[in-house]
Amino acid sequence: MSFVAFGTSDKGRIRPHNEDAFLVDQESGVFAVADGMGGHAAGEVASRLAVEAVREVFENAHPDVEVPALVISAVERANRRIAERIREHPEYAGMGTTLVLARIEADRLILAHVGDSRGYRIRGGQIEQLTSDHSFVNELVRLGMLSKEQAARDPRRNVVTRALGSGPSVVPDVIQQQLEPGDTLLLCSDGLNSMIADELILSTVEAHRDQLDQCCARLVEAANAAGGEDNVTVVAIAFAGAPEAAITAENDTEAVEQPSELPPASSPGDGSPV
Ligand code: CA
Repeated sequence: MSFVAFGTSDKGRIRPHNEDAFLVDQESGVFAVADGMGGHAAGEVASRLAVEAVREVFENAHPDVEVPALVISAVERANRRIAERIREHPEYAGMGTTLVLARIEADRLILAHVGDSRGYRIRGGQIEQLTSDHSFVNELVRLGMLSKEQAARDPRRNVVTRALGSGPSVVPDVIQQQLEPGDTLLLCSDGLNSMIADELILSTVEAHRDQLDQCCARLVEAANAAGGEDNVTVVAIAFAGAPEAAITAENDTEAVEQPSELPPASSPGDGSPV
């Protein structure tokens, strides 16, 4: 399925530096957002190392290696690069980064993440968060100890429970999904979703889906208008076909036929663990 993509990043209105990094490689169908952390500009170093590691792994990939394996090795390489840099430059101790990584292959999405950078899918007038934040407050939400609304205001909301650079190995969550015509994917750092509600993300994407540069710019503007308390990064990927066509396709058995390499457990619309 053909698609167009665009990404942008902004330091926001409060932070002195932009510690986010992103990758848009439309030709290879590889996209990533990383949100770095650590003092003395180390966060910038960590997020950039992560994004470069992703690019390298996909550039040098052997065609026989399955995408989920590549995604995992990209995360491992990124983690290793950060650890190596800390060994070479002890002043970077404590730096780390989140990473959300998408690979598009025909009409299949492979999405991996570590930390609280998110992947969203907009389909048929609805927005769905595909990733589950590796964050302290999200753990409390999962345990039923906090509501999502409370989590959004909780002072501990920036604490991530999984990040690259925090240990010798890191395991991403990986899902795969069948894409449909008219889908839009969004990767973002928490500087977007911590400042504006999912409903505003949805309406902004729907209004500007045909011009992704505008779409990304409007999302950044909205985050800044809401306070711009953090760096904000957005990567948008729009798949050919009107969103209305996607609704028709759901009732069309030919349109939802799956490629043979997909495991039978994977059904359209459901993120299934790899
Ligand atoms: Ca952030």
